[in-house]
Amino acid sequence: MADLPSETETFITELDAAVEAHMEWTRRILRCAVLRTAPDKDVLDPLAHTLCRFGVWFMANQGHFEALNAPAARRVEAAHRTMHDAIRSICAHIMSGQPGRNADLEDFEQSQSELIGLLASFKTLILSSALRSDPLTGLPLRYGIENDFALYQKEARRNRTQLYVVLIDVDHFKRVNDTYGHPVGDKVLCHLVGTLKGSLRSNEPLYRFGGEEFLWLLKCKSADEAEQSARRVLTTIGTTPVPITDNTSLALTVTLGLARVGESEDLSSAISRADLALYEGKKSGRNRFVVAPS
Ligand code: GH3
Ligand code: MG
Ligand code: MG
Repeated sequence: MADLPSETETFITELDAAVEAHMEWTRRILRCAVLRTAPDKDVLDPLAHTLCRFGVWFMANQGHFEALNAPAARRVEAAHRTMHDAIRSICAHIMSGQPGRNADLEDFEQSQSELIGLLASFKTLILSSALRSDPLTGLPLRYGIENDFALYQKEARRNRTQLYVVLIDVDHFKRVNDTYGHPVGDKVLCHLVGTLKGSLRSNEPLYRFGGEEFLWLLKCKSADEAEQSARRVLTTIGTTPVPITDNTSLALTVTLGLARVGESEDLSSAISRADLALYEGKKSGRNRFVVAPS
């Protein structure tokens, strides 16, 4: 897992450990059933599903699971609880000298296999989304643009609003690396992304498009509003110096190329036009935005 962000690695390791802990719990129950010994609190307690190691870990990370897939997170919770309820009932029967019920056994088997299947899907989801985001800046990489673009284009058509593809390129970034070294360049880039994200609306995605180049899907009602938004980005970046050391900071600028997306234009065409506009902006002096002709 060398290329994963460390928090993803930690989460996956903890997920594996919690699943393994539940397997160990199942083995313990089997031993109790075979050897006729009394099981522990995390089996007999009516709230056993909140006491076992998996339950404790799941509750602590429930928000994370819900953010990834809320209905599946609720199914994890329900399957886990059913599993514990079924086992508690089986144990109660056995401890009172009766055979366990078939229905409980089936509930247990079904809920256990559902739980394991759901957790395996979550693991795949977590790994694939981590690989789709840039480990340096945390921004999504370009893989997801196509989907979002299609969605926003449809939305703009339906609401009679406008969608722009905007390419944002940092001006003279090579100089930053040449002067301060690549690691400082990395930190500068991260800081700049924080500033950029802060100047966009939360429903306007920003992707790391390439090295020091970003793609922004800008939603607006008019050409004037698009220009105002572009100006706001230039002003925010231009007035937010990036700290390099305790007493040095660096003023940076960016150049923007904007292309208003046609009703049935495809993404690659809009990107090419935005790229030409960006090139114009660089040629004519940087720290500005240029709107591509429609
Ligand atoms: P311009 O204003 O024309 O865009 O000039 P520029 O120097 O920004 O453009 P150029 O394409 O010549 O150089 C881009 C530099 O960005 C070179 C590359 O090493 C640096 N860069 C790209 N990605 C990263 C990164 O992840 N970290 C660091 N530190 N540097 C990066
Ligand atoms: Mg550049
Ligand atoms: Mg560039």
